[in-house]
Amino acid sequence: MTTPPSGATDTHCPYCSLQCGMRLRPTSGEPAPVEVEERPDFPVNRGALCGKGRSAPAILAAHARLTAPLVRDAHTGQLREASWPEALDRAADGLAAAARRYGSDAVGVFGGGGLTNEKAYLLGKFARVALRTAAIDYNGRFCMSSAAAAQRAAFGLDRGLPFPLEDIPRAGCVVLVGSNLADTMPPAVRYLRELQEAGGKLIVVDPRRTRTAALADLHLQPAPGTDLALALGLLHLVVAEGLVDEEFVAARTTGYEAARAAAMAHWPERVEHLTGVPVALMRRAVGLFCGTPDRTGMVLTARGGEQHSKGVDTVGAWINLCLATGRAGRPAAGYGCLTGQGNGQGGREHGQKADQLPGYRSITDPAARAHVAAVWGVDPDELPGPGRSAYELLDTLGTPDGASALLLMGSNPVVSAPHAQHVTERLRALDCLVVCDVVLSETAELADVVLPSAQWAEEDGTMTNLEGRVILRRAALAPPPGVRTDLEILHGLAERLGVPEGFPAEPQEVFEELRAASAGGQADYSGITYERIAAEDGVFWPCPASGPGEPEHPGTRRLFLDRFATPDGRARFADVSHRPAAEEPDADYPLRLTTGRVLAQYQSGAQTRRTPALAEAAPGPFVELHPRLAARLGVTDGDGLTVVSRRGRVTAPARLTAAIRADTVFMPFHWPGEGRANTLTNPALDPVSRMPEFKVCAVRVEKAS
Ligand code: SF4
Repeated sequence: MTTPPSGATDTHCPYCSLQCGMRLRPTSGEPAPVEVEERPDFPVNRGALCGKGRSAPAILAAHARLTAPLVRDAHTGQLREASWPEALDRAADGLAAAARRYGSDAVGVFGGGGLTNEKAYLLGKFARVALRTAAIDYNGRFCMSSAAAAQRAAFGLDRGLPFPLEDIPRAGCVVLVGSNLADTMPPAVRYLRELQEAGGKLIVVDPRRTRTAALADLHLQPAPGTDLALALGLLHLVVAEGLVDEEFVAARTTGYEAARAAAMAHWPERVEHLTGVPVALMRRAVGLFCGTPDRTGMVLTARGGEQHSKGVDTVGAWINLCLATGRAGRPAAGYGCLTGQGNGQGGREHGQKADQLPGYRSITDPAARAHVAAVWGVDPDELPGPGRSAYELLDTLGTPDGASALLLMGSNPVVSAPHAQHVTERLRALDCLVVCDVVLSETAELADVVLPSAQWAEEDGTMTNLEGRVILRRAALAPPPGVRTDLEILHGLAERLGVPEGFPAEPQEVFEELRAASAGGQADYSGITYERIAAEDGVFWPCPASGPGEPEHPGTRRLFLDRFATPDGRARFADVSHRPAAEEPDADYPLRLTTGRVLAQYQSGAQTRRTPALAEAAPGPFVELHPRLAARLGVTDGDGLTVVSRRGRVTAPARLTAAIRADTVFMPFHWPGEGRANTLTNPALDPVSRMPEFKVCAVRVEKAS
C-alpha cells in the first residue's frame, strides 16, 4: 500500500461488505467535513467506488445526525436532550432494574453487522460479563446465517468467501444465486467482466432480470422460494449425464449417496414444474458449469438464495453441486457467500451471536468457555449459555418469557426486521429501550434513551470483508462535541453496572484482547496487528500468532486446498429435498412477494435516506410488477398499489417492468411508513439458522383507492 499524502487518511467505506478502500481529505467544512478521493492501491476495489461510498461524508455533517443524548421525559413523554451522565445513568438504571426484577436474561442486547470487530467483541463481552445475560443476538442473523450454517455443515468452517475475489476471473464459470451485485456492490462487477473477458461464463439465478442478470451469459428465473429445487434438478442432470467427479467425491467427501438419491427424485420436468425454469436452460447451465477446464467454477450465493425458511438446505444443495462436480477445495473453484453488511463477516466471529463466543467458538463447548473465561478473568461456570436468535429475541420482547429491557447498537429493526409492525409493537412494550446510533432512526424514536455514536470516519477499528480480509478503518477527524464512540458508551455503562474493569474505550486495546480471545479458535486473529493490516492491505484469517523466532504466519487467502475443516478433512454432502415456502400463493393471496435492495440505498436506509444525493436518486419505495399483471389489475406506471399479506398492508407506486415474473411482485425494503416492505414479510424461520423468510411470502395486490 502507499502512504497517504499529508493531511489525508486512507480508510474504508462505511457501507457494504466489499469495504472499498478510499482516501479522505479534510475540507473547509461544507457540505461535509471530509471529501472522498479514490484510492487505487487498495486491491479489492482499485479505486472504484459506488455512489453510496462517494457520498458517505454527507452523514458526517452535524445537521444530519444526533449530537446530544436524548432521554424520554417522564412528564411530556417526549425525547429531550440530556447530558451524558444523565443519559448513561438512565440507561444503566433501566437495564439494571429489569435484571433485578426479572433476572439477568430479562435484559437483551441486539447488535449489528456494521459494527467494527472491536465493538462486536466488546458488546458480546458486555452482555455476558457486565449484564450476565444470554439474551444477545444481532441483525447479521437476518443476513447470512443460512449460508454460514450450511458452510459449517459442509466444510466445518464458515468464511463467506474461502478464496479472494481476485480468483473469480479464473473460475471459468460463476453461478450467482440471488445476488444483484451490480446494484449492491458495483465495484465488484469488474471481477465478473474480467471473468467474461477471459472467456468464462456467468450464470445468474434470480426471479428478476436485474442489472446483474442482464450481464449474464445465462439467466435462470425461478419462482421465489424454489432455488432448492433448481439446485437439485441441476445435480440430477450432472448425475444423469455422467458428469460427477467420482475421484474427487471418493477422495475428499462423504455423504454422496444420500445426496445423489435425493437429486434423482428431482427429475428435470418436475423441477421445471416447480421452478418455472425450462429443462433446456437447466441443461445449458450444467453444460456451462461442467465445461470449464481444470474443474474450475464457483457458485456464489447471496440473500436471494439464503433468506428462506429452508435457506440452509438451499445453500447445502448448491454446495452439493460444487462437491459432485469436483469444484471445491481447489484453485478458482468452490462455493462462497457474498456477505452483505459491512462487517457481516467479522460481526459474526467475535461473540455477538447468541450461540458463539469470540474466535467462532461454540458457547456450549466447555473448552471454548474455559479459554474465553480466562481471557475475560471470569469463572467459566458464570458465563451464560446460548440465547435466542434475533427474531425470537425481538418477538418475545416485553412478554413474560422475553427481555423487558434492551440495549440496541447499530441496527434499525423497525424497518429491517420481518413482520415489522409486530416487532415495532414488541419494542414499544419494553420497560426500557436504549439505542446507540448516529441518527434518530425509526427504532431510536421509540427509545427511552438514545446515545449518539461516533461514525466510521471518526474512530479507528477493524472490519472483516466478505473475503475474510481483516482491514483497518482509520479516524480521519474527531467526532463532533456531544458524541461518543460505542466503545466509550460500553465503558460508561459497564462502570455504572459495577464492572469498572475490562471495557477499554481504546480500539487497539480492545483488538489486542480480541486477538487473545480468538487464539486457537477457527477465526484466529492472534497473528494480526493494526500495523500488519496497514502494511499489507489487510490480512486474511485464520492467522495464528507465531512462536518466538518463527516467521509471521502469512494469513490464509485460500481455504480447503489440502483438506476441509471437518474432523476427517472431508467435505460433507447435505441430504436435502425440495419443500415449499412457508407460505405459498393461494386464492386469497395469489402472488409471491420478494424483497431486495436498490443501488442508491443501503439496508434500513437510516444513513442513505439522509444523504441528499442518494435520497434524490432513490426517493421512496415502489412495487415492481409485470405489465401483464398490471393490465389485469388495471394499473399503469406510477399508480398507487396496495400490497396485502397476512401480516399487513402497504402502499407504494407501481413500477411496471417485464424484468420480473408475472406471478411475482418486488419491493425494496429501505423505507419506513406506509411503504415499508417488511410490514408484509414472513418471520417463518429456518429450523437450523433461524433465518426469517424475507425473500418470499404470499400477497395480493390492489389498485390503491
Ligand atoms: Fe461502499 Fe460497498 Fe459501494 Fe464499495 S460497493 S463504495 S463498500 S457501498
